[in-house]
Amino acid sequence: MEVIKNIVCPFCGTLCDDIECHVDHGHIVKTRNACRIGHSKFTHREGAVRYTEPLFRENKKDEFKVIDWDTAIEKTAEILVNAKKPLIYGFSATECHAHIEGMKLAEKIRGLVSNTAEVCHGPSVWALQDVGYPICTLGEVKNRADVVIYWGSNPMHAHPRHMSRYGVFARGFFRERGRKDRTVIVIDPRETDTAKLADIHLKVDPHKDYELVSALRASLKGFELKSDIIAGIPKETIEKAVEVLKNAQFGELFFAMGVTQTKGKHRNIDTAIQLIVDLNAFTKFTLIPMRGHYNVNGFNQVCTWISGFPLCVDYSKGFPEFNPGETGVTDSLMRNEADAMLNIASDPGAHFPQKAVKRMSEIPLICIDPHETPTSVLANIILPPTIAGIEDTGTAYRMDGVPLELKKVINPPNGTLPDREILKKIFKKVEELI
Ligand code: SF4
Repeated sequence: MEVIKNIVCPFCGTLCDDIECHVDHGHIVKTRNACRIGHSKFTHREGAVRYTEPLFRENKKDEFKVIDWDTAIEKTAEILVNAKKPLIYGFSATECHAHIEGMKLAEKIRGLVSNTAEVCHGPSVWALQDVGYPICTLGEVKNRADVVIYWGSNPMHAHPRHMSRYGVFARGFFRERGRKDRTVIVIDPRETDTAKLADIHLKVDPHKDYELVSALRASLKGFELKSDIIAGIPKETIEKAVEVLKNAQFGELFFAMGVTQTKGKHRNIDTAIQLIVDLNAFTKFTLIPMRGHYNVNGFNQVCTWISGFPLCVDYSKGFPEFNPGETGVTDSLMRNEADAMLNIASDPGAHFPQKAVKRMSEIPLICIDPHETPTSVLANIILPPTIAGIEDTGTAYRMDGVPLELKKVINPPNGTLPDREILKKIFKKVEELI
């Protein structure tokens, strides 16, 4: 039995880097330190259906047939080259070198490229471009934060070790007593398991986040709140929360889809960032988005280095254009414009609006995914990759923007290739065909 230590968990944006895997005859049989979902990712990598050979079918009603890699790459390249509006989407559960190759391919085929942030933290990343990014590292939160806000997020379920490693229970340099040294505020319409741990739970009415931030900002600046109830919360409770925020030594706002995908979207985040700016007149306060997939942040970084924009980039005119609402992958599918799609390391079939999924079922679809998913069952071509962070190395960006090196723990199944190699091969074939 081999024991491998200090592995980065490739599941959620917390990217815990203290995982230990016990490997027996090429299989991970035990983990230490991982939460239950992280443990599942390591130990169930085979999955119910693990693809290990390229599969193809001309007609989506037919059964898949096994084909060789050269033929699969050629057919993929032909589909992308012959399409008028090809899409490349996903990327959030793979490493950054695959992102680079995906961006090169999108530019070459003059396609539209985006990642899963489109349906989660997209509004956050464009708000950051609008009004700035007052961020810190998770290490600073652990060592310094005495006031922590979780807004529209439920880490007890979505990021199970976040509160114990950084946000709430962790003992830090200036917070030696852990939980006892921190005040926790949860803003959520629901009584979540995270809310049950809060010192103050602001039970905001659904879709009233913008109103609540505005009230917090007004009260912070010394204005009297005129209504008794704002966004479903008594004004006395809002004023009490403002006192806690003002008197923090170091405050942190963690926010997630409960704010980014409610009414107001990126305007909610714009104004939340302004709240952080206002708070810095009194104390030190920063914010960090709770990123979901382990490397959703990595794609937004890579996409920005290469194109200047974090997602929703349209290369159809030969240069990058960014106009979410028009240049999103979901927008293109919903308008029935897209006529081919390559999906990698994501499952839009399970998460996109029904109309977008319907379009995916009508157009040629290539899926690069190790497992059977609601997306892969709609595909014409399935290309089987290795799993980055378990069967392959790479780089991923934690939710606070810190890049971490992913380890190879075990060998991949025969017949699979790293995502970046698959994309390189498709690029080479596209170059030959164009
Ligand atoms: Fe993995 Fe996230 Fe669990 Fe950490 S909290 S072990 S990164 S799934």
